[in-house]
Amino acid sequence: MAHIVILGAGIGGMPMAYELRSLLGPAEHITVVSNCATFHFVPSNPWVAVNWRKRAAIELEIAPCLARKGIAFDGVGAKRLRPERNEVELDDGRVLAYDFLVIATGPKLAFDEIPGLGPKGHTQSVCQIDHAVMAGQAWDRFVSAPGPVVVGAAQGASCFGPAYEFAFIMDTDLRRRKIRDRVPMTFVTSEPYVGHLGLAGVGDSKTMLESALRERHIKWICNARILAVEEGKMLVAEHDENGAVKKQHELPFVYSMVLPAFKGIDAVFGIDGLTNPRGFIVVDEHQRNPVFKNVYAVGVCVAIPPVEVTPVPTGAPKTGYMIESMVTATAHNIAAQLKGLQPDARATWNAICLADFGDGGIAFVALPQIPPRNVNWYAQGKWVHVAKLVFEKYFMRKMKKGMSEPIYEKYALKALGILRLKEK
Ligand SMILES: Cc1cc2nc3c(=O)[nH]c(=O)nc-3n(C[C@H](O)[C@H](O)[C@H](O)COP(=O)(O)OP(=O)(O)OC[C@H]3O[C@@H](n4cnc5c(N)ncnc54)[C@H](O)[C@@H]3O)c2cc1C
Repeated sequence: MAHIVILGAGIGGMPMAYELRSLLGPAEHITVVSNCATFHFVPSNPWVAVNWRKRAAIELEIAPCLARKGIAFDGVGAKRLRPERNEVELDDGRVLAYDFLVIATGPKLAFDEIPGLGPKGHTQSVCQIDHAVMAGQAWDRFVSAPGPVVVGAAQGASCFGPAYEFAFIMDTDLRRRKIRDRVPMTFVTSEPYVGHLGLAGVGDSKTMLESALRERHIKWICNARILAVEEGKMLVAEHDENGAVKKQHELPFVYSMVLPAFKGIDAVFGIDGLTNPRGFIVVDEHQRNPVFKNVYAVGVCVAIPPVEVTPVPTGAPKTGYMIESMVTATAHNIAAQLKGLQPDARATWNAICLADFGDGGIAFVALPQIPPRNVNWYAQGKWVHVAKLVFEKYFMRKMKKGMSEPIYEKYALKALGILRLKEK
C-alpha cells in the first residue's frame, strides 16, 4: 500500500484528495495535512469582508468530510519538507513519511515586503478567512465614519481579480447605504493598464474594467509601486512604460485593502531543486517536480512565469479552473506511476474568472490562460453575481460530500458556451 500525502486542504488540496481516492480506490493510504482544521472557500472572502456573508457559510470541518472517503487528516501544519528523505516534519516535531507527495499549500502572503502593508500594518486583506473577518469588522467601523478608500494590488501581485472585485463590491455596499458620495475611491495597481490582470488582458478587459471603474467614480493609478503605508496614508510611486518613476503620490485613506505579492510557504522555501527563488514549486508539464519525481504540486504554490515583463513586476494568476485541471492531471499521473508507467496527463491551464460587482459582474474566459489563446471571451451582467453564488454553493457541497467530479470541465465551461452561442 502506497502512502500519498497531500499538503494543504484548500481549493487544490481537498479536490486532490477526493480525485485520488476516486481514481485509486480504497487500496492506497491517503493523508491530508493542513495547518488549520477547516476548509475555506477563498473566492467568497470579499463578501465576508463587507459582511454580506458569514464565515460559517464558507467554512467546513475538514476531518469528518475526508473520513467519509477513508482519507486521513492531520491538522498540524508542515514545518519542513525533506524531499530527499521522502519525509515531512510537522509543526509538533512528528515526521510523516510518504511515497508520493502533492504540495497544495497556496501562497505565503508577502506583506513584509512593503513597510506598513497588511493586517498587522495599516491595510486590510481578503486573502484568508481570518483577514476577511477582520476586514469586515474594520468595514463596520468605516461605514459609521466614512472617508477616502484606497484599494488594489501591490507590486509582484498575481491575484488582481479579487482587487477589482472588492473595489466594486465596496462601491455597491456604499451606494446601498447612501454614503458613496462621502467616499473618494482610488484603485492602485502594479498592472501596466487596467484589466491586464496579470494575463496581458482577456478579450476587451481593459475597456470593460476601465469603463466600470469610470462609471463608479473610482480613480486609478497603474504601474504603481507601493513604497510604504502609514496610518491613514499610502505612499505610491507611479512608473512610466520604461520603468522610470514618473510621479509620487501620497494617498490619504480611512479604509484600505491591498492584495500583496505571493511567495512559497516556509516549509518548502529554498529547497534546492524543488523551488524557484520565490519559493514556488517547480513542476514539469505533468505537475511533477523534475528533481524529486514523487513530488507533485497544484494550485497557487506552483511556479508559473509572468505572462510578460511589465514595468512594475506582476505575476500570472492561478485560478480555479486551472487548479482543477492541475488536480485531475496529478491524480492520473500518480495513478500511472503506481502502475509503473510514466506520467502523461497534462493540465489544461485554462482560466474562467467571475468578477463579481455585488450587483452584476464580468466573466472572463481565457483558453488557454497564457496567450495566444483559442478563446478570449468576456461577458457582463447580473447573472455573474448569481453564477458566483451558485458556484460557491456547489463547491461547498462537493467538498462536504467528497465528490470528485471536475466542476469547470463538466458544468462551467458548458454553461458559458451556451451563453456564447446565445450571444451569437
Ligand atoms: C480573495 C481571493 C479571491 C479569489 N477568487 C477567485 C475566483 O473567484 N475564481 C478563481 O478561479 N480563483 C480565485 N482566486 C484564486 C484561487 O482560486 C484561490 O487563491 C485558491 O484558494 C487557491 O487554491 P490553493 O489550493 O492553491 O490555495 P488555498 O486555497 O489557499 O489552500 C492552501 C491550503 O494550504 C494550507 N497550508 C498553508 N500552509 C501550510 C502548512 N505549512 N502546512 C500545511 N498546510 C498548509 C492552508 O491552510 C490551506 O488549506 C481567488 C484568490 C483570492 C486570494
